[in-house]
Amino acid sequence: MLHKIRTTKPQQFIDITNKVADEVKNSNVRDGIAVIYVPHTTAGVTINENADPDVVRDMISALDKTYPVHGEYLHFEGNSHAHIKASLMGSSCTVMIQDGKLLLGTWQGIYFCEFDGPRNREFYVKIIRD
Ligand code: ZN
Repeated sequence: MLHKIRTTKPQQFIDITNKVADEVKNSNVRDGIAVIYVPHTTAGVTINENADPDVVRDMISALDKTYPVHGEYLHFEGNSHAHIKASLMGSSCTVMIQDGKLLLGTWQGIYFCEFDGPRNREFYVKIIRD
């Protein structure tokens, strides 16, 4: 299913765990996998800690130190840092579904990763029955 979101910052991690969990619930699939796919070149998706919001802030600042917004890049659009960060996070993730629920660790959340916002963005969730 297609989900549309609006990001509000140039770089931002948005917790989409509940949107994916709702889709798993509505599918009535007890055992299977959920694939989350982001069809963008300057945004990605990753799984990381959802308890302390400083974790995602630290991830963005560490990525910025390694791949600064204004670095020595050739790409004419001036957003190479965003392309690099999007590829590092990846364009999809897969989470197992067990007993009708996402098999995530206690502290894990699924994040949509914006690197060239704010923009209207999309991601897809596909639920596959085992
Ligand atoms: Zn570009």
